[in-house]
Amino acid sequence: MDNSTDNSNWVTCYVGLGSNLANELGSPADHLQQALAVMRAHEQVREVSVSSFYASAPMGPQDQPDFVNAVAGFETTLTPYELLAFCQQLESMAKRARLRRWGERSLDVDILLYGETQIIDPTLTIPHAGLSERNFVLIPLREVASNLTIAGKSISDYAQSRDWTGLTLLSSD
Ligand code: ATP
Ligand code: CA
Ligand code: CA
Repeated sequence: MDNSTDNSNWVTCYVGLGSNLANELGSPADHLQQALAVMRAHEQVREVSVSSFYASAPMGPQDQPDFVNAVAGFETTLTPYELLAFCQQLESMAKRARLRRWGERSLDVDILLYGETQIIDPTLTIPHAGLSERNFVLIPLREVASNLTIAGKSISDYAQSRDWTGLTLLSSD
C-alpha cells in the first residue's frame, strides 16, 4: 500500500543511536548504518532523516572508546511501547551485550521524542530523561529537527546554550 495516502496515524518521532564497540558484524558506524537500513525498511516507518555522525566522549566509565552517535527522525504508526520493542530489536540485531551501566555497547537506540507524548515509566520515559543534558543528542537532534520545541524551549536555544565539548563531527552524509 502507498503509505503516503493511507489514513493511519503517523507520529513524528526521534531516536538517538550510539555505538562504541566493534564486533563480527562491523564497526560502530556500521552498526548505526545497519540499524538505519532496517529502520528505513520497516513498513510502519517512513520519512527517515538522519543527522551527521559524531564522535563523542563516553558518559560514565571513561576506560572505554569514544562513541559514534547520530539522531534519526521519522514518522511511525508504531505505538511508543512498540517503538521501544523495535529499538531493542535493533540492539539485539547488533548483538548488544549488557556489560556495565553506561558501558561499551555495539548499539544503543533510545527514544528521544514521540510526537507530543509524555510518559513517565521506568520502562519508557518520553521525552528521554537525558535529552536536555547531552551534547551528543542535542546537536544531532537540531540537525534533523531545527524547529523543534521541547518543554517550551527551542532546540536551537538548548543547543546554542552549550558548547561542543566532547563532540566531533565525523561525517555529514
Ligand atoms: P540512558 O537511558 O541513560 O541513555 P542506557 O541507554 O545505557 O542509559 P539502557 O541500558 O540501554 O540504558 O536501557 C535501560 C532501560 O531504559 C531500558 O530497558 C528501557 O526500558 C528504559 N528506557 C526508559 N526510557 C527509555 C527511552 N526513552 N528509550 C529507550 N529506553 C528507555
Ligand atoms: Ca542511551
Ligand atoms: Ca538505551
